[in-house]
Amino acid sequence: MEHFLKDFLLNVLIISSPFVLYPYLYRLKNRLLYYRFLMFFIFALALIVTMCFPVKISGFNYDFRSIPLTIGSLYGGGVIALLLYGTLIATRYLLGSPDNLIYAISILPTYLIVYIAIRRFQHASLAWKIAWAVILSILIKLITLILFLTITNQPQFFLHQPLHMLTTYAMQAFIVGITVYAIEFLNRHYHMQEEVVKSEKMRLVSDMAASVAHEIRNPLTAVRGFIHLLGSPGIQPEKKEFYKTICFSELDRAEHIIADYLSLARTDPELMEAINVNVEVEYLSNILLTYANFNNVHLSVQLAKGDVPMTMGDRYKFRQALINIGKNAIEAMPNGGTLELATECRNDTVKVTIRDTGSGMTGDQLKRLGTPYYSTKEKGTGLGTMISFSIIKKMHGKIDVRSEAGKGTRFTLHFPQHKTETM
Ligand code: ADP
Ligand code: MG
Repeated sequence: MEHFLKDFLLNVLIISSPFVLYPYLYRLKNRLLYYRFLMFFIFALALIVTMCFPVKISGFNYDFRSIPLTIGSLYGGGVIALLLYGTLIATRYLLGSPDNLIYAISILPTYLIVYIAIRRFQHASLAWKIAWAVILSILIKLITLILFLTITNQPQFFLHQPLHMLTTYAMQAFIVGITVYAIEFLNRHYHMQEEVVKSEKMRLVSDMAASVAHEIRNPLTAVRGFIHLLGSPGIQPEKKEFYKTICFSELDRAEHIIADYLSLARTDPELMEAINVNVEVEYLSNILLTYANFNNVHLSVQLAKGDVPMTMGDRYKFRQALINIGKNAIEAMPNGGTLELATECRNDTVKVTIRDTGSGMTGDQLKRLGTPYYSTKEKGTGLGTMISFSIIKKMHGKIDVRSEAGKGTRFTLHFPQHKTETM
């Protein structure tokens, strides 16, 4: 028994190695076509590899083909399942195995069970998912074997080596169970991470609400006053026009503030696009202006001239990253101060600087910056910086923080410049 146990373990190792790619798969969930393609690729690879290196036990070849077939089908859906069935039959043919047509006829009926199971699987609890996957993998193997041996008229092989057969089924069940558990565990982990980002964004939105409301009150008060004036008797027509112009521009301002604020709360699906960093920093300054005014902070903005600073990333995530850093900077200046925002293009990198004249950080504090739940604020969550850093790193950005206690802090972000083809 021991001699093939080693081979089995090797096979297990081989087929589980493609699952390492699963974390990348999860990130592609919103891009269905890529997701499906990668899903198929991963499981087809596992399928082919396990079929190329079968375990030989007393003249019989055993492999774990039903594992990638089952799991790939359950997680990929009907189309992927069909493609995996096709891959399996094609691989078997290419490997020169006999009776390929009979084999295809024997295995294809199991697709029906797989198809039915896929629907139920999606909404099942963890325990049921594991149970479904284990049962399905056993059924696929068993039904195919019975049909194959019946058609080829060699039923005597069915219980030829009962102990070996039982061992393979037990091992297969074990591996399927573990794999489903691992995938579900990862799914939950990623899902939770997404939830943290979302809830932190909601906190950002609610933190800004007071300052936005405050900022909208000013134009409204102004408009109210001018309407009052417009109603007074004997007013000259030029004056009337002038008041009207002011009213409109104040209302436009209010509308801008509201529009900016609303786009802050948006959660669009993640996508990689070319973003103009100047436009985003301008947006940042608009959205922070209300918050800065509210906290007696003066805002200064200096945008790169000449080259348009472009980089790749997700616009709304990038905004969230910048706003988190900018908001911290303002919060570090409870007695007012200056917040400087600047962009610059140099040596194929786009530089964004966010500098404040606030409380600053000691070396120890600086070391802990960006680690989850580190906060020195009464109502802080200590997640903002962590999220910002992870967004920036995803954009292949580099972060440099200089800080001096009592003097202030400077965040410098470096992003790879995205050059658009211009003729
Ligand atoms: P929170 O803002 O909820 O406290 P963050 O992750 O955004 O969480 O920030 C973590 C901590 O880092 C803050 O509590 C603060 O002590 C420190 N910090 C971040 N930015 C600055 C800054 N510009 N100046 C001083 N301290 C800062
Ligand atoms: Mg914060």
